[in-house]
Amino acid sequence: MTQSIAGDCPTCNQAFTVAFPSVTPNSLKCPTCEQNWDYSVVPLEGCSICGCRYFYRQKDFNQLLGCSIVLLGAVVVPAIIGYFLGYRYLLVITICSLSVFTGVDVLLYRQVSDMAVCYDCRCEFRGFEIPSAIVNFEHFFAERFEKEN
Ligand SMILES: [Zn+2]
Ligand SMILES: [Zn+2]
Repeated sequence: MTQSIAGDCPTCNQAFTVAFPSVTPNSLKCPTCEQNWDYSVVPLEGCSICGCRYFYRQKDFNQLLGCSIVLLGAVVVPAIIGYFLGYRYLLVITICSLSVFTGVDVLLYRQVSDMAVCYDCRCEFRGFEIPSAIVNFEHFFAERFEKEN
């Protein structure tokens, strides 16, 4: 899996995605404004973009996709099947369809890997080995960063 960092550039505010160059970490820079992120920190020991040392773990799961799948199972598929079988079975069809699609959703969710997100600049680190010390989002922890900004 390729390692990449994605987020909003603190300098120009443009969204960026950069592949992480493991050989020459000093060449890390913003594709838009060319601001150099010259942090020689090891990713996830510190943030390559802002130097912050705190991260949380999050599923790299597209929530829009997840919602679309459930919507498909709850509305679209029952409407189509109901059209052919008759709408008096609609409730049963909906329940069956929804449970199948929810199952697909859960399976997809388990498939996706974790990514680490910087508490301070919210940059997303994909493809890195996430240390077990990095845990799920803690709200009280995030508030500390909001006050500072
Ligand atoms: Zn920039
Ligand atoms: Zn950061």
